[in-house]
Amino acid sequence: MEANVAKNPLVRDGWIEVICGCMYSGKSQEALKRVEKELLSKIRKALIFVPDRGRRQVTITATNEQVDTQNKVVTRAGGIFKAIEFPWNNPAVILGHLTPEISTVLIEEAHFCTSELVAICKTMAEKHHLRVIVAGLDQTFASEGFGPMPALMVEAERLDKELAVCMECGSQNASKSWLDTRVRNQVQNGQVLVGDEQYRAVCRHCYRELTEKYGGQKP
Ligand SMILES: [Zn+2]
Repeated sequence: MEANVAKNPLVRDGWIEVICGCMYSGKSQEALKRVEKELLSKIRKALIFVPDRGRRQVTITATNEQVDTQNKVVTRAGGIFKAIEFPWNNPAVILGHLTPEISTVLIEEAHFCTSELVAICKTMAEKHHLRVIVAGLDQTFASEGFGPMPALMVEAERLDKELAVCMECGSQNASKSWLDTRVRNQVQNGQVLVGDEQYRAVCRHCYRELTEKYGGQKP
């Protein structure tokens, strides 16, 4: 079967959707909701990709169970989806996994990738005519643009920014991720698997207060 045959041959498929936000904002749930609908279809076929640098432990909220994210995407709501790992600094590897029946690609934890991911996403949308969904943190813990995300946000036809509940004050406008500075070094050496409980979703006001109290965070 030929993939991506539109009913009207003049209508061209292929676009980029970005779902961004801070920790605990529900980015993955939203991205996987979109992919789950595709997986129910006999016509459309989706693949999920995750960079190897994004491996971590996710705690399932209902059971408190810790799940390693190697070769999978795990949501705190308990959803577990098979994913293909690719080198964070060589996203072109993704293209090698594409087959004609693929209609949709989801790239999770996209912030960890090099800027080459932008060109790869454009290639998939424009030459492979795929629906490309990209999910990731828009900001680093230092509140700056994270990896290729700002460029992808500019390139996207559809852009959604998810918000979290501030873990400090309860505001529903939490847009920033705070990492406990005492464990930051463990994250940076890449050897120690750090669970997600060291991260906090905070609003801009609490972020400013935490920064004043504990010092700024390095990217
Ligand atoms: Zn707050």
